[in-house]
Amino acid sequence: GRTAVTAKGETVCPFCSVGCRVTLHMVDDEVAWAEGADGPANRGRLCVKGRFGFSYLRHPDRLTVPLVRRADAPKDPALALRGAAVLDLFRPVDWDEALDTAARGFARLRAAHGPGSLAVLGSAKGSNEDAYLLQKLARMGLGTPHVDHCTRLCASVPPLAEATGFAAVTAPIEEIACAEVVLMVGSNPDSNHPVAASFMKNAFRRGTKLILVDPGIQALSRFATHHLRTAPGTDVALLSAMTRVVIEEGLHDRDFVSGRLEGFEALRARVAPFTPEMAAGLTGVPAQDIVAAARLFAGTRAAMTFWGMGASQHAFGADNIRAVIALALVCGQVGRPGAGLHPLRGQNNVQGSCDAGLLPNYLPGYRPLAQAGHTVVEMFDAARRGAVRGLYVVGGNPAMANPDLAVTRAGLACLEHLVVQDIFPTETAAFADVILPAAALAERAGTVTNTDRLVQRIAPALPLPGGARPDWRIIRDIGARLGLSWANLTVESLFEDMAQELPTLAGFSWRMMVQDDHARYPLRPAGAGESLFGDDFPRGAKAAIVPLDASGADEMTDADYPFILMTGRLREHWHTGTMTRRSPVLEALSPEPQAHMHPDDLARLGVTVGGEVEVRTRRGMVHLAAMPDRAVRPGVVWMAMSFFEAAANELTVNRLDPTTRVPDFKFCAAAVEKK
Ligand code: SF4
Repeated sequence: GRTAVTAKGETVCPFCSVGCRVTLHMVDDEVAWAEGADGPANRGRLCVKGRFGFSYLRHPDRLTVPLVRRADAPKDPALALRGAAVLDLFRPVDWDEALDTAARGFARLRAAHGPGSLAVLGSAKGSNEDAYLLQKLARMGLGTPHVDHCTRLCASVPPLAEATGFAAVTAPIEEIACAEVVLMVGSNPDSNHPVAASFMKNAFRRGTKLILVDPGIQALSRFATHHLRTAPGTDVALLSAMTRVVIEEGLHDRDFVSGRLEGFEALRARVAPFTPEMAAGLTGVPAQDIVAAARLFAGTRAAMTFWGMGASQHAFGADNIRAVIALALVCGQVGRPGAGLHPLRGQNNVQGSCDAGLLPNYLPGYRPLAQAGHTVVEMFDAARRGAVRGLYVVGGNPAMANPDLAVTRAGLACLEHLVVQDIFPTETAAFADVILPAAALAERAGTVTNTDRLVQRIAPALPLPGGARPDWRIIRDIGARLGLSWANLTVESLFEDMAQELPTLAGFSWRMMVQDDHARYPLRPAGAGESLFGDDFPRGAKAAIVPLDASGADEMTDADYPFILMTGRLREHWHTGTMTRRSPVLEALSPEPQAHMHPDDLARLGVTVGGEVEVRTRRGMVHLAAMPDRAVRPGVVWMAMSFFEAAANELTVNRLDPTTRVPDFKFCAAAVEKK
């Protein structure tokens, strides 16, 4: 008989920004099982995705050779091909031919139409070194300002940066152990940051009080002292009313307001009309609950404030977050143990990819640009107009992730030269001219930065499959073909470059990362504590309250479209499903798309359990199973974004927040019918 070859290696989980360290056990080059390692963010814990989600690494669909599109292969936006079906459109080539074809296409368009005809779309799933080099390639190699990545679809940090001058959390999740109260707005960590949620639950069991602002019921609801179930899209009214209560009752932190805050008087005037009774009418939250929650938050010694995609993914998402931050600042809930501001990030390396400058409005280290390039969604509008003709997509899947997919897919079909670099043949790759097979995170070296500003080093836990290559190396080789002197770049040299250029990484070195494996930025003296800004803010002595003017959703319900469609994520699947839907365990746990609706709504429609419904908006229509769910408010239909069979984003609206340019994934008008 054959002897099984076993091996193990350690990496960081790619599925969310908690940054759990995981040990992969290999048997005969297959991932046999995964277990939580004793990492600084997880202490041995993993959620269901971390435990069962790694089957994708050796899935037969992995791309292992470079591919070039066949001359006769159509680019049809209506086909929405994925997986093995994509491969029929391509022929395998060697790496030199693929890289030459990729680089030549960009050079030709740049010569004919200027560098502005090119765009680069990265991902928050790669390493810091990938992100850093990709933005360099865009700016130095292609010469284009149009570089962005998928953090744009959820960005929740810009309002924090406006207020403090710092574009990362002021307090890491572990600070919750010192908090007496937690305010959580528009976040469902039990589904989206499950290991972080497990630490939060520990704190709630020990007595930390929770004020939860969420239209739906979620796993943390049972821990909530106050669950303020706002009508969708009314967070600004609720938070303004809470702020008014705080100010009217003199519960604000007078020292903080007078010594460390700008904009207080303007805020007082702006929230004045939001009496608890008026806000109750708008939000559906009883006035006495608004008052009680405000008193609890303001009256405590230390409160942590978290927010997530439920706050940011609106056409007025930045204003939602400004209202959260304003409430926390007038109460002085920042800069002490257990007091701080924490935007829960989405993908595993959102923080690092932004720090590295993979953004159209910032150079590395958040050095602002006078003229911003196109963002994720705008790139495809520009492609449809013919303004953008060439696109390099590294690790993103906009043909599933963007709002109003018909628009993005039409934009993809218009491109003259599309290079897609990924680990699977995605819906986006179906439109490519060149497909470059990339390494998965677990197969490469580098660093990633989690939601807590924790920079962790990764080393290859298993070998590369076939001819796949790490992203940074492919980017380097395209750059070299475009005339950049990049032949000697390594992961180490890229990290050292970043440590020089990014103020956040001051004092970091590759040697330190090899020795310690992880470190939180900014490096602080021992005993200095984790909650930043007990003294000056990076923007100066005072934080700023930025005026807001929430306009409301773009598309209201009416007689034809009487439901509100909200989209989100499930605990079992990650984003567009390219990885987790290739895990047999996760797929068995959550195998099909479902429209979650209140049972009363389904009864009115005459839909029985498991019956099929048609969900329709002004942009598209999908059919899927109905799921009676009392956690969903009446009048709302909730869908996960991960299922290509009924892609939620065929329905969503292409309306962007004016500040963050984040699309509104949480509110559009829909019709639902029994099928
Ligand atoms: Fe992975 Fe996030 Fe789950 Fe940790 S909590 S195992 S990082 S998906």
